[in-house]
Amino acid sequence: CGVFGIWPMPEASRQAYLGLYALQHRGQEAAGICSRDNGRLHLHKAQGYVADVFSEATLDRLPGDAAIGHTRYSTTGGNVASAAHPFVVEGRFGQIALCHNGNLTNTEILRHRLIEAGQVFSSPSDSEVILALINRAQAPSLEDAVVEALRQVEGAFSVLILTEDALMAARDPHGFRPLAMGRLGEATTFSSETCAFDLLGADYVREVEPGELVVVDRQGTRSRFPLARVQARPCVFEHVYFARPDSLVYGLSVMATRRDMGRLLARRHPVAADLVVPVPDSGVSAALGYSEESGIPFDFGLIRNHYVGRTFIEPRQSIRSFGVKVKLNPVRELLRGKRVVLVDDSVVRGTTSRKIVSMVRAAGAAEVHMRISSPPTTHPCFYGIDTPDREHLLAARMDVEGIRTFIGADSVGYLTLDDLQASVKDAGGESFCYACFTGEYPVTPRSKGTCG
Ligand code: 5GP
Ligand code: SF4
Ligand code: MG
Repeated sequence: CGVFGIWPMPEASRQAYLGLYALQHRGQEAAGICSRDNGRLHLHKAQGYVADVFSEATLDRLPGDAAIGHTRYSTTGGNVASAAHPFVVEGRFGQIALCHNGNLTNTEILRHRLIEAGQVFSSPSDSEVILALINRAQAPSLEDAVVEALRQVEGAFSVLILTEDALMAARDPHGFRPLAMGRLGEATTFSSETCAFDLLGADYVREVEPGELVVVDRQGTRSRFPLARVQARPCVFEHVYFARPDSLVYGLSVMATRRDMGRLLARRHPVAADLVVPVPDSGVSAALGYSEESGIPFDFGLIRNHYVGRTFIEPRQSIRSFGVKVKLNPVRELLRGKRVVLVDDSVVRGTTSRKIVSMVRAAGAAEVHMRISSPPTTHPCFYGIDTPDREHLLAARMDVEGIRTFIGADSVGYLTLDDLQASVKDAGGESFCYACFTGEYPVTPRSKGTCG
């Protein structure tokens, strides 16, 4: 998911709307904005793309000088209207809005305990659990109640909280999901990725650090570290796949890390070939790196249709399955007779790769060599990336030779864990989460929360 917040700023909801536009890739299922005007909160959220959820009229109904917003991608919790963020409640601290990126790993336990104590919930969202914990905290002040609540939740959270007189940003102690801080004139702004700052003309200031709580109010901006101190483990998969290449994530350029992944992949798995072709869009930066390092020319041999929505209605009386063909089409003139290196960022179930390899062959390629700019994905994520259960992960079930046979390629080469660590400048291999490649989970998953 993507989160964005800004305070104080005239027409804050319109700035948030632009910010969410830049974060659309982080979630296409639902979008929402909550604004604050004279101490009252105003909310609009719905399923769909940012462009469809908001109009002039809905933004007019979100007045005020502070706003938070969210783009939602469902992990668990499903694609249901009630799961859209932000969540707004009214309790002992007045109105509070919250939006959240990441999955909590102990929500089932907390939710059960809260329900036993009389709490009601209107959605399956983790965020409602945090709001309930804030309202039930022993602490007398809202800021301390937020700390008390965040100390009880486990797993991944980059949260933004808007109250009647403050904007707060917090990141879990491992810092699984990104959260950056920016400045636009007088305003402090927060975003999952810096590409939103670029769109608004805001300056990137710094990361919200793992375990940090930043509070922005009339007194100014203050920071504290009230959560347990642990080794930070930001998600490396943001750099592999999830984030936009024009963003800084954890202060590192995503374009640069992906190019390095591609370069190291070319060194690790060279092959005699005529053309490097990315699987768009996610494979583009790594394919450029592969091409630069190997000296094999790069070209767009697969063209993506950018207008494919989330669902595609296939003809009823057809035996053909359109599947990936709706989204990608090969450029026959480029591929015919060529030995092709296909570069993608990851293989999850393997269904896409298999179809793309056969599509590139059908377009006349003489050989197809698959290169993957991350190690084999062998374990599911419990911290906010939607990977299927272990039995559906291709690399959990077979070795590289089995994968090569399954996807029908002439050769398959994955980036090694060491190379991935080198790409993100993690010399000791302890500065990021790599659990979906290693199974070494920094936080024991007790249940799958909702994204987040
Ligand atoms: P597969 O067919 O192997 O399941 O899918 C692999 C493709 O899915 C790759 O092109 C990769 O870019 C993309 N991918 C990797 N992780 C995710 C994810 O979390 N969500 C979505 N929508 N696509 C992903
Ligand atoms: Fe990221 Fe993988 Fe860790 Fe999930 S398990 S947080 S996708 S590195
Ligand atoms: Mg892809």
